[in-house]
Amino acid sequence: MPPTNSEDKFQVMDIPELMQAMVFERAGKPLVLKQMPVPKPSADQMLLKIQACGICRTDLHILDGELRNPKPQLIPGHEIIATVVKKGQNVTRFKEGDIVGVPWLAHTCGKCKFCKNGHENLCDNPLFTGYTVDGGFAEYTVAYEQYCFNLSNFYSNSSGAPLMCAGLIGYRSYKMLDKKVENIGIYGFGAAAHIIIQLAVFQKKKVYVFTRAGDKIGQKFAMDLGAEWAGDSEEMPPVKLDAAIIFAPLGDLIPKALQDVDKGSMVVCGGIHMTDIPSFPYHLLWEERSLHSVANLTREDGVEFLELAEKVPVRATTVLFKLQEANQAIDSLRQGKIHGAAVLVM
Ligand SMILES: [Zn+2]
Ligand SMILES: [Zn+2]
Repeated sequence: MPPTNSEDKFQVMDIPELMQAMVFERAGKPLVLKQMPVPKPSADQMLLKIQACGICRTDLHILDGELRNPKPQLIPGHEIIATVVKKGQNVTRFKEGDIVGVPWLAHTCGKCKFCKNGHENLCDNPLFTGYTVDGGFAEYTVAYEQYCFNLSNFYSNSSGAPLMCAGLIGYRSYKMLDKKVENIGIYGFGAAAHIIIQLAVFQKKKVYVFTRAGDKIGQKFAMDLGAEWAGDSEEMPPVKLDAAIIFAPLGDLIPKALQDVDKGSMVVCGGIHMTDIPSFPYHLLWEERSLHSVANLTREDGVEFLELAEKVPVRATTVLFKLQEANQAIDSLRQGKIHGAAVLVM
């Protein structure tokens, strides 16, 4: 439940010196529960008291050392729902007590050619929440106000957390597809997929879901959310697909998806990391099939998606854990035991 306003006011007056945080020290090691100083916001930042933070597959890639050069003593987590408790002097969009969403994109330079051309997701000098700056596996964090999202009451709670990355990246992947596609394949049915299927079904698309072999619970979950068909990733779909989105981090799925799609179709890779792609015969790509990756998000994606999500309305299925249980949550996610999204609540 979101805190009431009177509770927020109490929190404003009551900012402690230290906070609990789950800290990443070394690849391959579990996170360590530590007392850390509560960060101080710069002029353009806000101090946020975190209510909830989702766990994303990208966090696993950071923990496993597959994403290089994280900030030392990193606090991971980039799907944050939090209350503004203190503002830097330049902050004007939000006030103390507001509940905001903090996504993966923490800051961009605003000067490079990508920022200038509306592709801030590809910025040459970006900051990323829970990777190059501290994130949400803690009681407090700071965030640049211009990169925080305004949240309606509907998403101002733990169910909004998975929208901040799984939802947003899923939406950016989905948005790449031609508007006219009818039959869409989704490979890997985790947090992003379970959100995007709701949007796709709302827009009258037929969705074919591929899970890891034998994941009957995952397949039933997909069918319950409106999938036309769900099966193992080695299976052939019952129709030729008009588009495919791969969320599972497995390079083997690229030739498989190319095989499943019709002429002129796009295969989109929604993840930040994938295992190597095996070589495949050119005829799988022939006939104007294309392959596309999706990197990060723009703020515009976020505004569009949050508006659309509420219309559907998209409801994330969440499995809640306490902050101190982050390592257990991560293990469950790794083992494919989470159907929906894992979220830490503070
Ligand atoms: Zn830039
Ligand atoms: Zn993410």
